[in-house]
Amino acid sequence: MKISQLFGKGKTVFSFEVFPPKKTSPIETIYSALGELKDLSPDFISVTCGAGGSTGHKAADSNTVKIASYIQNELGITSCAHLTCVYYTKQDILEHLEQLGKCGVENILALRGDIDPNVPRLHDFEYASDLTRFIKENGDFDVAAACYPEGHMEAESLARDINHLKIKIEAGAEHCISQLFFNNDVFHRFRELLEIAGINIPVEAGIMPVTNKKQIERMVSMCGASLPPKFTKMMQKYENDPEALRDAGIAYAVDQIVDLISSGVDGIHLYTMNNPYVARKISESIKTLL
Ligand code: FAD
Repeated sequence: MKISQLFGKGKTVFSFEVFPPKKTSPIETIYSALGELKDLSPDFISVTCGAGGSTGHKAADSNTVKIASYIQNELGITSCAHLTCVYYTKQDILEHLEQLGKCGVENILALRGDIDPNVPRLHDFEYASDLTRFIKENGDFDVAAACYPEGHMEAESLARDINHLKIKIEAGAEHCISQLFFNNDVFHRFRELLEIAGINIPVEAGIMPVTNKKQIERMVSMCGASLPPKFTKMMQKYENDPEALRDAGIAYAVDQIVDLISSGVDGIHLYTMNNPYVARKISESIKTLL
């Protein structure tokens, strides 16, 4: 199923994100987690891809295709494969699209990807909008775009970043998935700015439950999400008690989601971190609200 068909049906779309296991673990290690996630009946599951650069992206991205295919064909759940482009040629992307098409994967999150300063990038694609246009011209896929409620780290301003998001939409993106955020006011304001900019495609809010302090510090340093006092207080209080921090993180995410759904958000995209326990706790708390 094409993800764009899920929106506008009077129900909040609820989706999950997973990542392929590390290079040292066999791909099958994710299948039991996926089996548990399936029981939570998400509308779709997206699968991240390698960042490119020095990480051996082609091997990593073939695992993305395998996992997206498994979700689609073995679990019977709509899947979405993430795809970056700065370290790919047009020919690489064509081959990738062919593989996805053969597996029946109909949805792609088209990304530029982070640029590794130690690895020279290629120039077949400058931005995610170029990849979006190319996918639309060369296959029958629904394309999603990443968006950044606090602005992308490299963008001069949020206003400029929103203009660039418009280019991705003009290139064919059908819906957006947001970067994680911990302050809902940031997301509400972003929605207002999108409306002013004339952007009216569905936007899913990316929610990351905190399950350990290190993980969140790493994510925040990578994406620059701001941390409201309510959140940092919680982290400080429970930093030495992993179980309490996990439970507080789940409660915090549920609180964010309740507010977002009450405000009419199009969808919630849960960064599951491949952790079915946390996804289950959150799903059970919000299932009657969707
Ligand atoms: P773009 O939309 O191309 O934007 C990149 C920068 O260029 C921005 O600052 C933008 O404002 C600017 N820009 C865009 N167009 C123009 C233009 N025409 N002229 C001038 N400037 C322009 N990374 C991975 O490696 N693997 C993943 O699986 C992955 N999944 C993600 C999922 C989500 C939901 C999100 C939000 C991010 C994900 N990322 C992933 C991270 C992403 O690859 C990085 O944030 C990357 O730096 C930007 O990708 P993009 O597609 O947003 O780029």
